[in-house]
Amino acid sequence: MDYRFSEQHIMLRESIRGFAAKEIRPIAEEIDAEDAWPEGMWEKLAGLGIMGITVDEEYGGAGADLLSAVIVLEELSKASPAIALSWGAHANLCCNNLNHNASPDQKRKYLPPLCTAKHIGALGLTEPNAGSDAVSIQTVAVRNGDHYVVNGTKMFITNGTVADTIVLYTKTDRAKGAKGITAFILDTAFPGFSVSKKLKKYGHRGSPTAELVLEDCRIPVENVLGEENRGIHVLMSGLDVERAFYAGESIGIAEACLELSLQYARERVQFGKPIGAFQLIQAKLADMYTQLEAGRALCYKAALLADQERKGGKGTEVHKLAAASILFNAEMAYRIADQAVQIHGGYGYMLEYPVQRFLRDAKLIEIGAGTSEIRRLIIARELLGV
Ligand SMILES: Cc1cc2nc3c(=O)[nH]c(=O)nc-3n(C[C@H](O)[C@H](O)[C@H](O)COP(=O)(O)OP(=O)(O)OC[C@H]3O[C@@H](n4cnc5c(N)ncnc54)[C@H](O)[C@@H]3O)c2cc1C
Repeated sequence: MDYRFSEQHIMLRESIRGFAAKEIRPIAEEIDAEDAWPEGMWEKLAGLGIMGITVDEEYGGAGADLLSAVIVLEELSKASPAIALSWGAHANLCCNNLNHNASPDQKRKYLPPLCTAKHIGALGLTEPNAGSDAVSIQTVAVRNGDHYVVNGTKMFITNGTVADTIVLYTKTDRAKGAKGITAFILDTAFPGFSVSKKLKKYGHRGSPTAELVLEDCRIPVENVLGEENRGIHVLMSGLDVERAFYAGESIGIAEACLELSLQYARERVQFGKPIGAFQLIQAKLADMYTQLEAGRALCYKAALLADQERKGGKGTEVHKLAAASILFNAEMAYRIADQAVQIHGGYGYMLEYPVQRFLRDAKLIEIGAGTSEIRRLIIARELLGV
């Protein structure tokens, strides 16, 4: 496996890093405190050409690989995981999914406005009573002539308050379980769609999360994504890519926490010395670096394999490797953020220091895109072949 970055990867990283340092980091605490998406941020992200980063160029995207998307996610997360999460829901959960699964007509209609941020994307799978057990979703779509009539509630949907286009999972045949799932492209202007609640969160504040309601919502037949009752294929391939991708958020959080801790260890003086002179602090820093680099290798490997698999590569182990990458990296980022708060002592517990924000933000990655428990089950089942 070749982990070396191309010239394009390096330039992309530098450009996003510069943007994040100038446009996001200075307002990151304000975004968190006010739990508000910054005015004009979608347009600024679009100006970087990253809204449809993995979308084919003919539909307005950048045509880049998944590793490029991971690099962007990592750099945005170093400044604000909230901005990174919402960008990821748009660029990966919605746009990348459509690029892979939509028909040419659907792509021509939906992708160009998503790639310029004229429209914002989201993915609606989770429901109040169906999270880890995603196959038990109860949102039902009933065919009626040239439309489906959809009823149900979606929960915890990132970008739900602002989305124009949602990859929506429903049941078209409740008796068939996984084989009764159908995916749709939902235009939020369709009658019967509404946002019932913007949800208040512990972390990733500023990234809007919502509960959505579909009440006799009419979705045209041509908006079926893939085929009726075959939505499980859209869902499963999307989840592998989502896990390989969102592991990059952990890398960004861990990098930011290590950098902040190194700076603090050099500056904070106790017992007449910078605390970085104490071996117990040094050990923490060394462990943080080592865990981060182990996670980084796993993250990039999973992203490369997920990309190869999408492009038709055979025999990869992406299902368990993507789960392993996000499992390891989510727990790694949470541990590192926790150590960063410890190194900062009492100041680390204060809201004006960013390490506590990273600790709160890191927790989500152990929950979203399948919890740590579910990731362990996936890996074990694949290993055992059961
Ligand atoms: C901020 C945020 C943003 C989100 N964004 C989106 C989004 O954009 N789109 C979307 O569709 N969803 C989104 N989600 C939902 C997310 O994917 C779910 O929260 C996640 O899949 C877990 O489901 P749940 O919350 O219902 O927990 P549950 O499934 O109820 O799990 C509760 C606990 O039980 C454990 N558990 C469940 N089953 C098992 C088992 N078989 N064995 C062992 N333990 C088990 C879980 O690991 C967990 O610890 C988001 C969630 C959050 C918090």
